This record gives sequence, C-alpha cells and structure tokens, in this order.
Amino acid sequence: MSADNLLDYDLPALQGWCAGVGEKPFRATQLFRWIHQRGCADFEAMTDLARSLRGKLAGTAEVRRLAVLSEHAAADGTLKWLFDVGAGDAVESVFIPEDDRATLCISSQAGCAVGCRFCATGHQGFSRNLSTGEILAQLWFAEHRMRAARGDAAARVISNVVMMGMGEPLQNYAALVPALRVMLDDHGYGLSRRRVTVSTSGVVPMIDRLREDCPVALAVSLHAPDDALRDQLVPLNRKYPIAELLAACERYLAAAPRDFITIEYCMLDGVNDSPAQARQLVALFRHRLPVKFNLIPFNPFPASGLLRSPRERVLAFGDVLLEAGLVTTIRKTRGDDIAAACGQLAGEVQDRTDVGGRRARSIPIVPSPAAAPGRTPPPTA
Ligand code: SAH
Ligand code: SF4
Repeated sequence: MSADNLLDYDLPALQGWCAGVGEKPFRATQLFRWIHQRGCADFEAMTDLARSLRGKLAGTAEVRRLAVLSEHAAADGTLKWLFDVGAGDAVESVFIPEDDRATLCISSQAGCAVGCRFCATGHQGFSRNLSTGEILAQLWFAEHRMRAARGDAAARVISNVVMMGMGEPLQNYAALVPALRVMLDDHGYGLSRRRVTVSTSGVVPMIDRLREDCPVALAVSLHAPDDALRDQLVPLNRKYPIAELLAACERYLAAAPRDFITIEYCMLDGVNDSPAQARQLVALFRHRLPVKFNLIPFNPFPASGLLRSPRERVLAFGDVLLEAGLVTTIRKTRGDDIAAACGQLAGEVQDRTDVGGRRARSIPIVPSPAAAPGRTPPPTA
C-alpha cells in the first residue's frame, strides 16, 4: 500500500489523520505548518515534532511532490512549470510577478471535458481529475521554489492564486474545496479569500455549492453575449444557459468576499468582438449584476482555426462597455514567449483524443460585422 499523501489533507482532515495514530490535534497543526509554511517534506527534519510522531510518519505518510518536467522563464519574469502527473499526463502552473503582488495560476485537471472551442486544453480532451494533493503540490512547489530563488526561506512570495490553468475546477469539486481551504488557512498559505479566484465556464450547481462551502473570488468565462454563440464556444452552455449562469452569480454575490463577479471574455476576431455584441452585453448586465469585465486577447493556436481580435477592435469593444458604466479592463498578455498565456498551457502536452482536429473541422462559427476603431483606450488590468 502506498503512503498517505499529506498534501491531500486540509487541517481538520490532518487532525483526523493524527487522531487515527493517537496524536493530539496540535501535533497536526505543527505538521501542517512544517509542510506548507516551511516547505519541508522530510519528517526527520521537523525537529520540534515528537520523535514518536516522526516514527509513526515514517513509512506511512509522505509529502508527495510532482516531478518537474520543465521550467521556462519568460522575458517579463513569468515562469512556467510543467509537472508530470503520471501515465503520460502533465499539467502546468504559471507564476506571474507584478509590482504589488505575485500570482500563481494553477491547474485543476489533466485536460478538460468542457471542450471550449478557443482553448488548447479543451482541444486536448479530458484525461483525469487532479487530487487535492496534486493541486496543492503546484502551490507548495512554486511558493518554496520562489522563496529559494529570492534567498529568503521565510518571506511569503505568492499573494494570489487563480484557478485558471488547465481544467474546469468546478468539475473537480471534491478535490478543489480542501485545496482552497489549505490556501486560506492561516497555518497553511494564509491567503485572503479575495485573493483566491476560482474561474469557471459555468457549472451552475457547483457555483451554488462553492457559495455554501468555501466562498472565494469568482470569475466566470462568458465569451459570448447570447446563448446561440455561447453554445458553440463553450459547449457547457447547452446545459447551463446564460440566464441560469447569471442567476447563480447573483446568488453567489450574497456570500462572495468581493462585491462583484469577474466576467472573462476572450476576444475572437470576427466572432464575438463587434460593437453590437458589446451592446448586447450592456443590455445583459447594466442595472443587474455588479461585474468587472476582463477582456482577454485570444492566444491563437493552429487547431482552433480562430484569430486574435485586432487591438483597435478590443479597445472599441471596451469603450462600449465603459461608456455604459461597466468596469472593464484588458488583460495584459504575460509569458507569451514561453506559451504561458491563457489557453496555451497544453502546448507541450500530447493531444490524446484529437478532439481538437474534429472540433476545428466540425463547428462553423458565423462571423460578425467588423467593428469601428476605438477612441479612448480602456485601462489595462
Ligand atoms: N476552466 C476554467 C478555468 C481555466 S481557463 C474556465 O474556463 O474559466 C482560464 C481562462 O483562460 C478562461 O477564461 C478561458 O476562457 C481562458 N482561455 C482559454 N483559452 C484561451 C486562449 N486560447 N486565449 C485566451 N484565453 C483563453
Ligand atoms: Fe476547459 Fe476552461 Fe479550457 Fe473551457 S476554457 S476547455 S472550461 S479549461
């Protein structure tokens, strides 16, 4: 039997594990702090743990790291790691340093079953859910790797986590929630709820569950102003159409740590980027749901058959939203030179299913009329 992976446990679960071997709850807290705050994976090095507990841990438990297949550094300071999760699967994490914060973008699944038309992970197909330990191993590794790189083992580096890597986090709910709890725990990573963001393509029942179980900041990947187009871009929309999704967002706000929902909108040339479509969005949101729009420049990949909207069209689109009073930012693309930008993360990962090829061949997308050039540029995220 393989050893228990202690990265799989939030603090109450680790207390349960300790109780199972006759240890008091405070021992679990000590162990938890050694693992997550000090990045220690060697029980013998946990010097203030009772020798008896270290004895019980040896052989029965481990802190299971993920093997790093590659590390790429971009010119802008972005770092991308590819982790081996076994059986030919790999997932990626991206570290994005900024002046006032450092964000880690984490994967929740190997592949993704949602199959969005514009997403490299979606084209790769679904392989499997990551465990809580595999989700947390990305943060554990990145945090302590960056502390080492900065020469200070005690100073926290990562201030924000976004579940925007590979996979649909709300389709891996059972593993996600304990991982979020460890991120938020003061004995773990001590992140504020406002600085941990779950991004979802719209798994409505799980948005409601998250509100109950572990409300953190929420980002919703909308990408289209109406169901006809969203059905094509985000196939999950056929199950949970826009009206249901927005109703779930409204309910979520009652418990959310922020007083708005982020709406992600990937700008696709001639598909969803016309001024008329921006006006449809205005009609959908104004005087209804408090949202902040984040317009994402599409990161093209050949199998998608799609192109990035020209900059002027993105600016014009943002203008329509801004003029209607909707807060709108344009996402800076980071790590472009190492394919670490949104939706490019499956680049080095094998396409297991050829969903990509089939999808690109089978889904027609109706082009929209070209947009007028913009005037005032909206602020950049
Ligand atoms: N499955 C979740 C989270 C992972 S995707 C979701 O869909 O929200 C994270 C973000 O990257 C989403 O907003 C997604 O729409 C965006 N994205 C995916 N592919 C992209 C691409 N090729 N270019 C730009 N953004 C992309
Ligand atoms: Fe999955 Fe998100 Fe990619 Fe859609 S955009 S295929 S939900 S990872």
